[in-house]
Amino acid sequence: MKTMEPKDVKEEKPLDFIRQIVAEDLASGKHSTTITRFPPEPNGFLHIGHAKSICLNFGISVENDSTCHLRFDDTNPSKEETEYVESIKKDVQWLGFNWGDHLYFASDYFEKLYDFAVQLIKLGKAYVCELNAEEMRQYRGTLTEPGKESPYRNRSVEENLDLFERMKRGEFEEGSHVLRAKIDMESPNLNMRDPVIYRILKTDHHRTGDTWCIYPMYDYTHCLSDSIENITHSLCTLEFEDHRPLYDWVLETLQTPCHPRQIEFARLNLTYTVMSKRKLLQLVTEKYVDGWDDPRMLTISGLRRRGYTPASIRNFCHTIGIGKRESWIDMGVLENAIRDDLNPKAPRVMGVLDPLKLVIDNYPEDKTEMMTGQNHPQNPEMGTRELPFSRELYIERSDFMIDPPRKFHRLGPGREVRLRYGYLVTCVSYDTDESGEITAIHCTYDPETRGGSAPDGRKVKGTIHWVDANSAIDCKIHLYDRLFTVEHPDADKDTDFKQFLNPESKVVIEHAKVEPSLKDLEPGRQVQFERTGYFSPDPVDSSPGNLVFNRVVTLRDSWAKKQKNG
Ligand code: ATP
Ligand code: MG
Repeated sequence: MKTMEPKDVKEEKPLDFIRQIVAEDLASGKHSTTITRFPPEPNGFLHIGHAKSICLNFGISVENDSTCHLRFDDTNPSKEETEYVESIKKDVQWLGFNWGDHLYFASDYFEKLYDFAVQLIKLGKAYVCELNAEEMRQYRGTLTEPGKESPYRNRSVEENLDLFERMKRGEFEEGSHVLRAKIDMESPNLNMRDPVIYRILKTDHHRTGDTWCIYPMYDYTHCLSDSIENITHSLCTLEFEDHRPLYDWVLETLQTPCHPRQIEFARLNLTYTVMSKRKLLQLVTEKYVDGWDDPRMLTISGLRRRGYTPASIRNFCHTIGIGKRESWIDMGVLENAIRDDLNPKAPRVMGVLDPLKLVIDNYPEDKTEMMTGQNHPQNPEMGTRELPFSRELYIERSDFMIDPPRKFHRLGPGREVRLRYGYLVTCVSYDTDESGEITAIHCTYDPETRGGSAPDGRKVKGTIHWVDANSAIDCKIHLYDRLFTVEHPDADKDTDFKQFLNPESKVVIEHAKVEPSLKDLEPGRQVQFERTGYFSPDPVDSSPGNLVFNRVVTLRDSWAKKQKNG
């Protein structure tokens, strides 16, 4: 299978095959408007794969000035929670989409779904079966062998109605009885071999409480919910292709007035992550990450917390497009989407991740000058800001070497460098402690070079960033990186995906220094630390007076090189 690489990204695109179908249906008059839906099961937080489906379903509604429903597929009472419902609503809105008045729950249809089931029984198209799970499996057959008919298959309508009613009243134990559609035990499609449509579950439901002890199955519920809501195009991922005959069978058999068209598309597969909710939940409950919104998680809430923008995620979904064939998208494509979004608009600032003191020996002790920094050199309309400059500064420890190679265009004894928006300085000496660790470097500055250029025209190659020691703000920084070290952590069923967790996916810097203009930067805002990456205050850990930055993304894709070098 081919993996889409960042270089494959193109801007303009023809309509994808689903939008083409929609356009044709509107042009032919088959539909006068579209109604799509996004149907999450509230059993986890939404992830970047869901974003693909959201951007498709809600995108179509925006493009056609029509509606998209948000419908919770909450038919399994044991795994669902209200916390998930709230997080999903928040995530869809944050992505920039709006369901208006069209918020629905499959559980709102329980009564209707029950009536439809009674109707199926009356039509002779459903029966109560008492095979246990093991027998059911045996009777079902395999891909190469036809199934066998259940001994309960030919019960009378009256008996089925009575038993189903009693299932509903709670007279039977879990697992003892199910309602099955009566279709075809010899069908080559296993989904059509008398699938279970109702089961007994003596569990309270997050919305209906203890009203029900029988719950409808997904396949049965989904098509009928679509039909009840007059959905025109029911878009789902490819694994439901084999379920489409059942989708159509239920609606045809019941002769529902609305019969939506189910269309399948390839799900998003992204390298260096896992996408299954079950695995994401495992990372959370076993505390490999700090919750569903851990900034390393590819959940919408994790991406938001990390500092991704809604536009970057929508652009990513646009870039990868909608197709019919399974494929992989390289994580670099997502990272490029956030770089592309932030590059033109994120203000440039200076932050020092690993501070080393720089003392300008010939600069007056009690003087502070205000230097002018451009907020975005390519975008002058973003204005300027004042940067205090005085005798003691901090620079990046990695910008100084005692014995640098010739090509190192930064500081070393005797070398001259430009301090961004400041002066040219030349290193004259350095201090060390008993262990030999460098504690400070000493420079002299050339007062003729304010702003960074020398009147005599001498060339100084290197420019480094700095902050003023007096006014810099102390902060904490989380350097996030990919959560896994391999492209396909869950490729092999027999290998635990957790063994591929990246031990360096979160590096905490306790004592970084940033320029004073960032004092009141709020979560949800992003800046570029010049030369270092894009950063955003953490919405949970950061507070006024206690800044905590997350690295959203590095300036360049450092993984592309690693991959190439093997
Ligand atoms: P589960 O494993 O719990 O079934 P799910 O990922 O299918 O998880 P749902 O809540 O059922 O989760 O998904 C809601 C919608 O999002 C579905 O229509 C589903 O097809 C779509 N979706 C889920 N994962 C992806 C993905 N990776 N790419 C595109 N669409 C997805
Ligand atoms: Mg699902």
